Amino acid sequence: MGDLSENFSHKDFVCRCNQCRGEEFKIHLGLVGILEQLTAHFKKKVIVGSAFWCDDFLEHENKEKRSFHNKGKAVHLKIEDTAPAEIFKFVEGIAEINGIGLYPKEEFVHLDTRPKEKRSLWVKEGTHYTALTPEKRKQWNL
Ligand SMILES: [Zn+2]
Repeated sequence: MGDLSENFSHKDFVCRCNQCRGEEFKIHLGLVGILEQLTAHFKKKVIVGSAFWCDDFLEHENKEKRSFHNKGKAVHLKIEDTAPAEIFKFVEGIAEINGIGLYPKEEFVHLDTRPKEKRSLWVKEGTHYTALTPEKRKQWNL
């Protein structure tokens, strides 16, 4: 039993940077519920790679200040024995998830609960973020 839900604890979501040393943490509980939904659907362990990013980390990495990670509304995850493309396709059907990214090289999926009007789907190819087109869907089995 986790301290936030059946399978998840706050330590899964803390910032992993060297600046705050995991002292900082923010997570949208709706997102934790969605991770439980993924656990139930795939019946495998959901592994959170990165979730909350603190202000210092964003500055250090020159990442965008408005990142959904900074709001506790985004996670990078893998699921045991499950292709990232399968995770991607499943979360496309969850209404609250409006940001979805496939990272084929890193083998994880980004998902976030941004507002519906800002819906965005992408694939990270090398160092580039490419919007998901029908051709890209074919290329990546999505
Ligand atoms: Zn940090």
